[in-house]
Amino acid sequence: MNDLPGGDRKTAGRGKENASPDNPARSVPSPVDKLSRLADPVTKLPGVGSTYARRLAQLGIKTVGHLLYHFPRRYLDRSNVTPIGSVKIGQDVTVIGTVCDVNSRRTRSRKNILVVTLFDGTGYMSGVWFNQEYHRDRLREGVEVAFSGKVQFQYKRLQMVNPSYDVLGGGEEGEDQGGGPQGIHTGRIIPLYPGTAGITSAVLRKMVSGALDAVDGMADVLPEEVRRTFGLMTLTEALREVHFPEGEETLKKARYRALFDEVFIMQVGLALRKKRREREGGGISHGSPGGLVERFRLSLPFELTAAQEKAWGEIAGDMSRAIPMNRLLQGDVGSGKTVVAVQALLLAAEGGYQGAIMAPTEVLAHQHYRRIGEMLEGLPVRVGLITAGTPVEDLRDLASGDVDVVVGTHALIQEGVSFDRLGVVVIDEQQRFGLRQRVTLAAKGSAPDILHMSATPIPRTLSLTLYGDLDVSVIEELPAGRKGVVTVVADNSQRKGAYAMVGKEVRLGRQAFVICPLVEESDKLEIRAAEKEARRLADVFPGLNIGLVHGQMKSGDKRMVMDRFGAGEIDILISTVMVEVGIDVPNATVMIVENADRFGLAQLHQLRGRIGRGSERAICVLFADPSTDEAKARMEAIRRYDDGFELAEADLRIRGEGSLFGTRQSGLPDLKLARLSRDFKLIRNARSVAFRLVDQDPVLSEGGNVLLRWEVNRRFGGTLDWLFHG
Ligand code: ADP
Ligand code: MG
Repeated sequence: MNDLPGGDRKTAGRGKENASPDNPARSVPSPVDKLSRLADPVTKLPGVGSTYARRLAQLGIKTVGHLLYHFPRRYLDRSNVTPIGSVKIGQDVTVIGTVCDVNSRRTRSRKNILVVTLFDGTGYMSGVWFNQEYHRDRLREGVEVAFSGKVQFQYKRLQMVNPSYDVLGGGEEGEDQGGGPQGIHTGRIIPLYPGTAGITSAVLRKMVSGALDAVDGMADVLPEEVRRTFGLMTLTEALREVHFPEGEETLKKARYRALFDEVFIMQVGLALRKKRREREGGGISHGSPGGLVERFRLSLPFELTAAQEKAWGEIAGDMSRAIPMNRLLQGDVGSGKTVVAVQALLLAAEGGYQGAIMAPTEVLAHQHYRRIGEMLEGLPVRVGLITAGTPVEDLRDLASGDVDVVVGTHALIQEGVSFDRLGVVVIDEQQRFGLRQRVTLAAKGSAPDILHMSATPIPRTLSLTLYGDLDVSVIEELPAGRKGVVTVVADNSQRKGAYAMVGKEVRLGRQAFVICPLVEESDKLEIRAAEKEARRLADVFPGLNIGLVHGQMKSGDKRMVMDRFGAGEIDILISTVMVEVGIDVPNATVMIVENADRFGLAQLHQLRGRIGRGSERAICVLFADPSTDEAKARMEAIRRYDDGFELAEADLRIRGEGSLFGTRQSGLPDLKLARLSRDFKLIRNARSVAFRLVDQDPVLSEGGNVLLRWEVNRRFGGTLDWLFHG
């Protein structure tokens, strides 16, 4: 990790400072030195040995910094605690007292009853548990405990059955934990920590108190000006207050400071990554669009939408600069991303460069190949295809530069594939590729421009974080004349009606998809279910052509079925979920999805995007029997929102943010405090300040910015080191 200035940590060897009395100058660590203690292992703290270190590691806490940022889950306000002497029967209350008796016995029905009794100076309260002996381990005599629950009066005593409880202090492994010099267990507001692997809140409080002492007076990681602009507490103040609050107002301010840091520092990291890429330069300066692009545009049977034009303008702008493009093109299914991407490929071809477009599946690659080939007919551009089985001659034509535009699958990144002058790379359905795969493809050229495309709508809040170091273009408008998709959520009683509707559409010359249930346990079961469905529908629709496609078929067979469907030879296509993203059959106007409540919202939206691509109104029938509230909410959302972005925001609300796709692999620090939906404004403001700061000081080497840089690198787990060299 980057060293901090001034402190000269390496030679000072902190931790030894007390052991070297001959060197008194070093026995008073500087504020910067103290800051660096955030990166120390927890074992440097008094009272934290290898046993506790192991347990802390289970909570993801390895350093002093991790410990200080392990925030209380909630707080207990002593002013809301009821004296036992004044509780009323039937009331829900919290009481605090010292355990004065622990007793367990067996009933005649062989149940075990554990009774733990507290005394608080005004009265006795018993907690009662059945067959849960293990509470005994924590609720030992002499320990201070808070019980919360409903008060009952039985066997002449006040009791709570299964109260929720927190151990506040005392009795820990024989150590004296009560009080302490700062009264860390006795403040008015008591912090309670999230799920602990064998470490009680009381022990954590003591460790945190030690950690706070270790960093007391440390330098602040935020530049003064930023702190002033956003009216923030200092870091030391905030950390102390979060763990040992003085009052509600200050606690709020403290948590805001921590939240701000989380958001701001992530944005600084993103800005640094982006800046670094731009600094490296070496990109290709493609010219402005010329004759080839123009001829292509004139050949289209439609006008580009304003949104497509805007996105294209941004892409062409990026490509003309000598900085490698790194842009995300987002647009709902059917919004017309491909036409925009093809222009980028042509722009590269105009200057004698090659362009590549990589798709996640064979079927999709073939479709792109066919469609792009058609679109470019008559233009002096040679289109190639690279998949797993591509003959060597085709590879040779690519390597020699005879092929201008190549469409392919993962096969494109194989070692044997090389280009003559790769100028632009398009990654279709980018979320289906890992970072490494994208980088590998790009590395086959010399700093080519990269266009990432995604049809999975990403909430705007998320694109400021997860994709925060990419430039983003959004096509937020569908081509005119689309009638769109009406979505109906149905149950079994509506099945007859749904099939009648399918029959009617087919008689009008249109086609239908039937999507079989997702069987997560086994592919075999999934295929069997699909085959059964095909036989059943053959009975329901005698005389119609019914096709079947599933994930385990050979890709050639799959393609054959899809081609027949595309050519209108199949009326009803039964498919497992594999219906490839991006498949384009404008004549398909109906989709039936079985067990729709088992699918995620993004997936349903993708599926539904397969229909309604032509000029006819399309209908999507979702058969569902939602049993949970969440499933019901999902079905309601898909019925209600046909806009992918609105749906994505709804998804975020329904599922919460813990489940966000892709955040894990993104190499970004976790957002623990921030809520993307709630803190959108803050994220945006912090982002603009962060990017401005990095614009002015691209490697954060000036003054106090060095501290910020150190903290950014610490939060990114050291993964930003490379940014600062060279
Ligand atoms: P995406 O890749 O965003 O899902 P496509 O590029 O496959 O969308 O476009 C979907 C369909 O819409 C294609 O058949 C395409 O030819 C057509 N299309 C694209 N742009 C327009 C437009 N501006 N007006 C009418 N049709 C369009
Ligand atoms: Mg597409």
